[in-house]
Amino acid sequence: MLQQVNGQETSSLPYGNDPLSKDLQVFLGSDFQLAELDDLTKVNPVTPATVLKCLQERYQVDVFYTNAGCTLVALNPFKPVPYLYCPELMRDYHTTPQLQKLKPHIFTVGEQSYRNVKSLLEPVDQSIIVSGESGAGKTWTSRCLMKFYATVANSSASQETHKTVERIEKRVLDSNPVMEAFGNACTLRNSNSSRFGKYIQLQLNRAQQMTGASVQTYLLEKTRVAYQAPLERNFHIFYQITKGASSSERLEWHLPEGATFHWLPNSERTLEEDCFEVTKDAMLHLGIDHSTQNNIFKILSGLLHLGNIHFDDSEDESQVCQPQEDAKCFVTTTASLLRIPKEELLETLRVRTITAGKQQQVFRKPCCRADCETRRDCLAKVTYARLFDWLVSVINGSICAEPSTWTTFIGLLDVYGFECFPNNNLEQLCINYANEKLQQHFVAHYLRAQQEEYAAEGLEWSFISYQDNQSCLDLIEGSPVSIFSLINEECRLNRPSNATQLQTRIESTLSSNASLSRNKFSKDTNFIIAHYAGPVQYQIEGMVEKNKDPVPPELTRLLQHSQDSLLQKLFPSQEKEPNDLSGQSRAPVVTVVSKFKSSLEQLMQVLHSTTPHYIRCIKPNSHGHAQRFQAEEVIVTMGTSSLFFLPPSPPPSPSFFLFFLPPPLSSFSLLIFIPPPNLTYPLQVLSQLEACGIVETVHISAAGFPIRVSFQSFLERYDLLRKSHPPQPRPSSRLPSSSPTKEHSGQQATPEKDTVLHALIRDILLTLPPTAATV
Ligand code: ADP
Ligand code: MG
Repeated sequence: MLQQVNGQETSSLPYGNDPLSKDLQVFLGSDFQLAELDDLTKVNPVTPATVLKCLQERYQVDVFYTNAGCTLVALNPFKPVPYLYCPELMRDYHTTPQLQKLKPHIFTVGEQSYRNVKSLLEPVDQSIIVSGESGAGKTWTSRCLMKFYATVANSSASQETHKTVERIEKRVLDSNPVMEAFGNACTLRNSNSSRFGKYIQLQLNRAQQMTGASVQTYLLEKTRVAYQAPLERNFHIFYQITKGASSSERLEWHLPEGATFHWLPNSERTLEEDCFEVTKDAMLHLGIDHSTQNNIFKILSGLLHLGNIHFDDSEDESQVCQPQEDAKCFVTTTASLLRIPKEELLETLRVRTITAGKQQQVFRKPCCRADCETRRDCLAKVTYARLFDWLVSVINGSICAEPSTWTTFIGLLDVYGFECFPNNNLEQLCINYANEKLQQHFVAHYLRAQQEEYAAEGLEWSFISYQDNQSCLDLIEGSPVSIFSLINEECRLNRPSNATQLQTRIESTLSSNASLSRNKFSKDTNFIIAHYAGPVQYQIEGMVEKNKDPVPPELTRLLQHSQDSLLQKLFPSQEKEPNDLSGQSRAPVVTVVSKFKSSLEQLMQVLHSTTPHYIRCIKPNSHGHAQRFQAEEVIVTMGTSSLFFLPPSPPPSPSFFLFFLPPPLSSFSLLIFIPPPNLTYPLQVLSQLEACGIVETVHISAAGFPIRVSFQSFLERYDLLRKSHPPQPRPSSRLPSSSPTKEHSGQQATPEKDTVLHALIRDILLTLPPTAATV
């Protein structure tokens, strides 16, 4: 298939079983060459429009992967393409000597990382950074890469080690369904959205077999346990237990058929992810026995019952709130499932204890209805978060190899992409901060380092500018003052938080930073950060409280009194009370922001010590439809009387703009239709390409030197051509090989070197695909 292109021979697509690719020629027409371009650096000229067109042409013919210089662009197929991920193809990529000859694929990146580990004298750890917005395919990609390594990293094993390695690989793969059941949920953007970040290190021994793995997780969205946005769902595991429990389990867990739970919205929709059996089997393989599983599911059921406890207002401040009549039975079942005394549960939810005075007298203060419900939600959040962390530690205990049994690792990073919602708070600030850090890593590692290396090599090079996000990072986390430090200070002062005061402090101390602004038309206290991927308006109200993440000490004490063996592990009795902000504990407050910052710093250190590879996942449309590349409609949302996101010019065609209006009109929204201009931009994809700097990457890669060979391997490979001239020892620097170059270190070029260079250029040209297409 596709043997002749403009009279030149081309390689056939390796994944051509799909009926669509049979019709490739018909599809391609005059843009044939464009769809055939495996690397965006060969698009000519490189502009957002041409890059888009190339990706679009490829998407139409089911080609989902395209190189963009050092990165791989992965378009979400939004349909099953099993032939793309079959073991045979994995082995093809593993065994083909010249990877460049194969079509771009995540397996190229996987295999390249695997070879990098092996080929170097000193093993170097590798990391694959998978980025993209929610639903773009990050988790899918990292799961496939894990399967790839499980398939190839055992192929050379001897018979006896084969079995051991296979067992470990099975466990590593089993960690996915368990973590996804507890950490993923159906959201508006993705029916299987990961609500936590994950860095998994696959540990390899000298023989390159996988001996184990370790997982680090980041920022689980624990609020989801007690609050689900409209049309969204709780974590999958809750639906799995309510739908998949056997009749005896239903009896034991108090989950009769048809029971309704406040924290279980949209359960009528059945998802592929609702399969309880898969989770239970995987847990068993990871060493979580039936009895522990039973404890886990009982606790989860207890949380569902807890969510059904609602209170009535109390008659006056001195009285406790009473549970609503129809909620009384849920108090009993929650207490029974969590194995805590019912009276103590009620007391904890309804009464705050305050210790004061020299004699440390204890005062009881009944909570208002809203406070009772906040305490209820907090109980659920802290229990679920600890359960999740405990599960991750059990998984690590089960899959992590002894340090002496592995020498290198390949790390897979799957973290939440950049977020910009109508309302953004601390969660988005942390997520977008993580994305800024990763972008800085990319910029430092690739865009800056590469150009600096050209300059050091003395090559003629006109510097290509790129967006440096240092000022944005200074604003968020810099010292001595930053948004993080100001929010933390508010927490330390332990006074009633005042959003207006914090807004004034942020403005007065950080106004010199160009990345900061404020929406003056908004009624809410806010600040706007100009992120590399676009401006985001954050609400200040509630941010300090979220940063404190307070857990009333009575709640921890209540769970410490549980008779359940697992809850006893999650809440050990000798533990210090976390973030007790009542002034009773002397332990310093560990804020959400400081915890997140330090775990991210550790991650960045690990990433810096590895050779990175980047996979940029792109969502071709926001509806999850196969074969649809262009989002025809664009929704531009407005915050309360503020426009915080504008489409690039020219606007897409045709466009609908949806405006949410400020109070008192906030229950109305405005839909504006803009007639199509001459130019059509698939904005959905364009904004994602912009967000990850693809066009700059392509520019630098296209203008730069795509192939680099060290002097050593250069001479080894091409010395033959010099015949009579013996090889000269060279420093092992890197040489840009495919270009007319100036000689390294200012030395004069000799005729021998010229001959070798010419041969090299010819050699490289022969391996290149047909000439670049012009759009
Ligand atoms: P993210 O982790 O970026 O939020 P996911 O990896 O969960 O996104 O992908 C969202 C959905 O897109 C998946 O559930 C799956 O249905 C689909 N998908 C993603 N990548 C692929 C792929 N390579 N082939 C087929 N479907 C895919
Ligand atoms: Mg995900």
